[in-house]
Amino acid sequence: MLFKESAIEVGAQAENKADAIRKVGALLVKSGNIEPGYVDSMMAREEVANTFLGNGISIPHGIPKDRDLIKQTGVAVLQLPQGVEWNEGEIAHLVVGIAAKSDEHLTVLSNLTDVLGDADEAARLATTDDAGEIAQRLSGGQLSPSEETPEDYDEGFDFTVTSPHGLHARPATALVDIAKVFDANVRVRNGNKAGDAKSLIGLLKLGIDNGTTIRVSAEGTDAIKALAAIQTALEEGLEDEDEAQAEAANVPISRANKVQYEGQTITGISASPGIAIGSVTTFRRGRIVVEEKAHQDVSAEQERLNSALASSKDELSTLYRDMLNKSGAAKAAIFKAQTEFLDDPEMLRDARALIAKGHSAGWSWQQTYEGHAAALSAMQDEILSARALDLRDVGRRLLKLLADKVEDDPELPDSPIILLADDLTPSDTAGLDPKFVLGLCTASGGPTSHTAIIARSLDIPAVVSAGPNILSMSDGATVILDGSAGVLVIQPTRNDNAQAEEAFKAHQRQVIADRLACYQPAIMTDGERIEVVANIGSVDEAKSAVEAGGEGVGLLRTEFQFLQRDTEPSEAEQYEACSAMMKALNGLPMIVRTLDIGGDKDVPYLPMPQEMNPFLGVRGIRLCLQREDLFRTQLRAILRASSQGPIRIMYPMIATMEELLAAKAITEEVRLEVGAGPIEIGMMIEIPSAVMMAEDFAKEVDFFSIGTNDLTQYALAVDRMHPQLAKMADGLHPSVLRLIRKTVEAADAAGIWVGACGGIAGDPMGAVILSGLGVRELSVSIPAIAAVKAKVRTVSMDEARDLAARALACTKASDVRALV
Ligand code: PEP
Ligand code: MG
Repeated sequence: MLFKESAIEVGAQAENKADAIRKVGALLVKSGNIEPGYVDSMMAREEVANTFLGNGISIPHGIPKDRDLIKQTGVAVLQLPQGVEWNEGEIAHLVVGIAAKSDEHLTVLSNLTDVLGDADEAARLATTDDAGEIAQRLSGGQLSPSEETPEDYDEGFDFTVTSPHGLHARPATALVDIAKVFDANVRVRNGNKAGDAKSLIGLLKLGIDNGTTIRVSAEGTDAIKALAAIQTALEEGLEDEDEAQAEAANVPISRANKVQYEGQTITGISASPGIAIGSVTTFRRGRIVVEEKAHQDVSAEQERLNSALASSKDELSTLYRDMLNKSGAAKAAIFKAQTEFLDDPEMLRDARALIAKGHSAGWSWQQTYEGHAAALSAMQDEILSARALDLRDVGRRLLKLLADKVEDDPELPDSPIILLADDLTPSDTAGLDPKFVLGLCTASGGPTSHTAIIARSLDIPAVVSAGPNILSMSDGATVILDGSAGVLVIQPTRNDNAQAEEAFKAHQRQVIADRLACYQPAIMTDGERIEVVANIGSVDEAKSAVEAGGEGVGLLRTEFQFLQRDTEPSEAEQYEACSAMMKALNGLPMIVRTLDIGGDKDVPYLPMPQEMNPFLGVRGIRLCLQREDLFRTQLRAILRASSQGPIRIMYPMIATMEELLAAKAITEEVRLEVGAGPIEIGMMIEIPSAVMMAEDFAKEVDFFSIGTNDLTQYALAVDRMHPQLAKMADGLHPSVLRLIRKTVEAADAAGIWVGACGGIAGDPMGAVILSGLGVRELSVSIPAIAAVKAKVRTVSMDEARDLAARALACTKASDVRALV
């Protein structure tokens, strides 16, 4: 039994929230669940996390690191019929104190989640004078008929989970993805709780630990197939590798000198190296206000929710693309994973049920996501807490669209500061201008948190998990943030400042040296030259590419001109954009890739059929050949602008000779129409068929550019957007390297040159291997230009060829990566 009736006090009173926490803590002490010190931990938790679930229920609990103050897992309830203000405007009547050594308290949490969706039930529990009634309800003993745990389906199997973290977010997401492939209804049971296998929330709420035996059952025409697929996946471990370890391996080695500080420090965990000295600002989010009562009838409120869901998905897909462009697939996958929550059947069902009871769409959504997120974070598991943060982030994004008003929405920093925050969500960081953030320090989060990943990709020093005290610092205080040592020096001495400044300057000198050298060509130690150019999507990026030392543009992703608007850009707009880029490049060459829409890049105003496999569907050149009007307009703009500088045209996604010849024929017609001069034509090599036919294609074009992102996706049959499989899609896999070698051999035989513009061109090791394979031009993201050039300068072509030869001989991507 999780809680004794003596741990429930009905008819209690509390002066304020702190008093309520002290009283519920005292109940836990009295029942022998915790040491008195754990009550302070419950208070501290409140500083960094909101434990108010909604419907008058809050669940104070301590910080994970104080778990050793828990003697025995247990729950206590303080019933406050008159209520106490938990947060502004939020009154708690049932204060459920939780002391959880492991996950036994999940049953209570999931029962709470049930109560959460039922305002009448919550009100009844808030006023009953029978402690037994509360105990029974929270033990799951009194489910109303509609909430009864459903029976298992006839077909099914039992499985004992053996992974160390149980069925945590990653394997659960993988299981949901598999279940969704089938039409069958699939149910997973853990004891007396059952959940929909297509709902991530539903699965996580089951609290499946290591050693738990679950029953998976299904019904429907493809039930047997679904069960077989799920059983195989469970037996194979469902992608369950240690996430923390995998990410921690990517933490870069510090470049800063080590400093011993004399002043008062707060120690956290190093998340991104480097030192920053500056004044602090605490990041606060605005308060989103939603009225509980519906403004309109039920169907109109349901419709408001639908349209907010659609808009949030659009926003996330734009963020995904921006992040993909700036920081690569792994970081962008965060937004892809967030989208899953917006499709979660359990969340949607709960929100819709509240709307059906006459509540507003905003309030219903808020109750639903806050309740589920609080239940996830209370599981005291680092991975699940991260999912809770994601859920709150996406929940808030949608809620803003349904809000009656947003109060005190914070101004984002517009001068350089060190930012303090509880934790930053993906959306928070996407909205920050990195040039104003000298450093980041968060109270919670870990080295694998989103904040840490983003800080590393932007090269901003960061410390995470520094504890709630950082949030009581006054804005404007001067501190030293030492990301390498994982400390925030809150009262630096003069000596500390002097040392930190010296370490900072040393780091800066290195950055400046790199920066100065970025304008020099990338010449290897034996005199061979590799061109390093940029991948861009806009006029601003053309300017930044030149400033960063790019020797031109190797890939203009023209589709970015088509996104985030309501109609397609006119010929004049496209011409203006191309001309402005040529002006910014001031004589440097630019490869303009024709429209590559489709796959993950969806344009709402171009009606395209929903596809089962969009990456294998009407994408890139296939769309252009179907929509010749679009293609011709774009070609007219590019060819007209070609009089202003060295522009080359490149076609994406060429799979067959017919496609290439058709595209070339249209281009030639348009060229004659606009009276443009001859222009170099190239094609992307990103589909294995193009590699196999490279000798023939090489006779038809002036150059190849290898799109290693797609080539890897199609060679390894791994969806490049797949959140779980993204790690498998390594462009350094020997199969991809062998395809590249074959492409270069075909190009050499025909006397044309080869570039590469996928992600591995911007990876210093990838850059050397590609050079050794005979790729002459590396087109990389703007922030990678200086590092790639610097790396190329450290080796000779002989060394690069030797490394490439050894890489080609490998049989695994990990063996290739282990070569250096
Ligand atoms: C690629 O596929 O490697 C590439 C550079 O193109 P995109 O990422 O735009 O598909
Ligand atoms: Mg591509």
